[in-house]
Amino acid sequence: MTDACARCGRTRASVTDPAELLAWVRERERGIDQWLCHVCARAHVRDIEGKLPADYWAP
Ligand SMILES: [Zn+2]
Repeated sequence: MTDACARCGRTRASVTDPAELLAWVRERERGIDQWLCHVCARAHVRDIEGKLPADYWAP
């Protein structure tokens, strides 16, 4: 059982802002709970909703 973000490795213990902790998402994949931090969860949602080519987001 880990409390680190599955994408970037950030740990929940390293996040001090309660609002950011609330934005963490727990996902269950093949019976294993995984966390996505507030930053990666946002990016993940955008991936799902957008399905846009990566260069869309480039400046
Ligand atoms: Zn992350």
